[in-house]
Amino acid sequence: MSIYDDAVFKMACDQFQVIADYLNIDQNHRDRLMMPKRAMAVTLPVHMDDGSTKTFQGYRVQHHLTLGPTKGGTRFAPSLSMGETAALAMWMSWKCALNNLPYGGAKGGVACDVTKLSRSELEAVSRRYMQEMIPFVGPHTDIMGPDMGTNEQVMAWFMDTYSVYQGYAVPEIVTGKPVSIGGTEGRRESTGRGVVYLIERAMDMLKMNPEKCTAIVQGFGNVGSVAALSLSLKSGVKVVGISDHTAALYNPKGIDIKAADAYVATHGVLKGFDKGDRVDAHELLEMKCDVLVPAAVDRVINDTNADKLKCRILAEGANGPTTPEADLLLNKRWDEVFVIPDILCNAGGVIVSYFEWVQGLQSYLWTETEVTDKLFRILEHSFTQIIKRAKADKVSHRTAAMAIGVERVMKAKAARGLFP
Ligand code: GLU
Repeated sequence: MSIYDDAVFKMACDQFQVIADYLNIDQNHRDRLMMPKRAMAVTLPVHMDDGSTKTFQGYRVQHHLTLGPTKGGTRFAPSLSMGETAALAMWMSWKCALNNLPYGGAKGGVACDVTKLSRSELEAVSRRYMQEMIPFVGPHTDIMGPDMGTNEQVMAWFMDTYSVYQGYAVPEIVTGKPVSIGGTEGRRESTGRGVVYLIERAMDMLKMNPEKCTAIVQGFGNVGSVAALSLSLKSGVKVVGISDHTAALYNPKGIDIKAADAYVATHGVLKGFDKGDRVDAHELLEMKCDVLVPAAVDRVINDTNADKLKCRILAEGANGPTTPEADLLLNKRWDEVFVIPDILCNAGGVIVSYFEWVQGLQSYLWTETEVTDKLFRILEHSFTQIIKRAKADKVSHRTAAMAIGVERVMKAKAARGLFP
């Protein structure tokens, strides 16, 4: 029994054990690498608009502090638990290490349904959460960023709450802030842009012509919508399917993604957008396409559908979309489905967050071109290393990616000793 017991945490641990076996990691070092360094759970009492007082549960997990401060997003979701937060923090560790960012992984959030909160209630939850976290985070300890259910405005409330407490502006305490208060150009688009850079890279390797390809994108939040827009407007890929938690749409002639984006900007969700046929959200994942982008929640590719996927490229925009059971099935289909694993595919967000933190610490602002060029250079390096390692050792792309990350953390722990 541990405070992290949860299906998603178990999945992250199972994935880690696969890598530990492959790397032949001594049993004495496994738990130390896998278990979170520390965690904080808080109860947030908030005055609601109707005059009642409601309490919310909040969490923050710091996975390891060996390479520097921890870094990771803040998720506002109804079912968020300590265990899920810990799994997401562990994935952040391997993601940061794979991409050579000087961070350990972290994750946090509040169990709440943002669609049921008014703006003032959301502000109260956000500010109260940061207030409770003040002793636990810091620009050199743990830097928060956005994740599902949070956005630039929430980051601005976090930054303001922390700064008011310090007595001066501390932009480097969070990333993903509005540019007007020290956010970086290109952060909002960074995850989706990274996803599309890697899809194009994979297409190039597989000699696929983007203009003859189709894509299905699950999730129409910050990652899915930017990826879908960029695929259809910049890469020339026909996006035939999109979905969010309210609707799934399919149109073999291609969906007008600009119109979908404008619709969601007004209505908040895809429900009611009528430029495609309504289909079952699970079936959408199994429909024929060249590129499938799961960019919503975890465990959507599992042992019920992994052998039914009809895509050539699986680009994991979400964190943990594919279960270890599904991986076993996909590994057998390695020459049919080219997997771009999550810790590479969605790393654009945290890479540009790192740029934002560096700019904040130096009080120096970069242009969007500088940010995007640097982002693509890091992704290119990681992509090349993963492909090389997977070929050399005849392992899956996920195993190669995670192994590179785990090895870097292990090496740092060996150099420093038991403390961090
Ligand atoms: N939430 C994003 C992720 O899962 C980014 C976190 C950050 O920018 O700190 O990678």
